Amino acid sequence: MKIKKNSKNNKPQNTHQKSLQQIENNKAYIEIDLTKIYSDTCILSIYIHRSCIFSILDWVLEHKSMEPVPEIGGFVLGNFFEVNKNVYQVSLERFVPSKNVAYHSPVKLEFGSQSLIDLYEEKQRHPDLELIAWFHTHPGHTPYLSEQDLSIHNNFFNKKYQLAIVLDSLTEYYETVFISRKKDHSLNNYLDSTKWIAWKKILE
Ligand SMILES: [Zn+2]
Repeated sequence: MKIKKNSKNNKPQNTHQKSLQQIENNKAYIEIDLTKIYSDTCILSIYIHRSCIFSILDWVLEHKSMEPVPEIGGFVLGNFFEVNKNVYQVSLERFVPSKNVAYHSPVKLEFGSQSLIDLYEEKQRHPDLELIAWFHTHPGHTPYLSEQDLSIHNNFFNKKYQLAIVLDSLTEYYETVFISRKKDHSLNNYLDSTKWIAWKKILE
């Protein structure tokens, strides 16, 4: 199978792409205002489609019966809108669970090449969407980016509109962090966050 490199990540000029206004005014999206969490963030708000919230929830619940509960992950496709230089609004439209990871344990997750092929194929089916985020769980060890996570993020998610989502699947309400970049390109991490977000309560 051939894997073409993604074309340069310019904003897609696709007629299927939703406009920011369509997203902001659409009740199917839940807004997470990152400016209330971080004092410095390139992403102002994340608009998560309800179906994406449920897909991630299902993916986490599916693994809760495993003993011990492993780390799991996936990728999120969506849209980004540059509203000012290096200032973005993003939407999360479609969760792509990594069903064929190379390795996972309660403290480690290796996506492996098959996960990337699955992601690539899903992206081909949705040319109107961009790779916006990656998602993974930390069962019982709090949501943050570890040294290994930072290396993944800096290698594959180095655009200012991209983010990391980490969820602790052993907390009651699935405490979650959304990690964005600061204007100087460094990362917000748990020390910069004033609060976690409970995934199970996002819809409330
Ligand atoms: Zn991690």
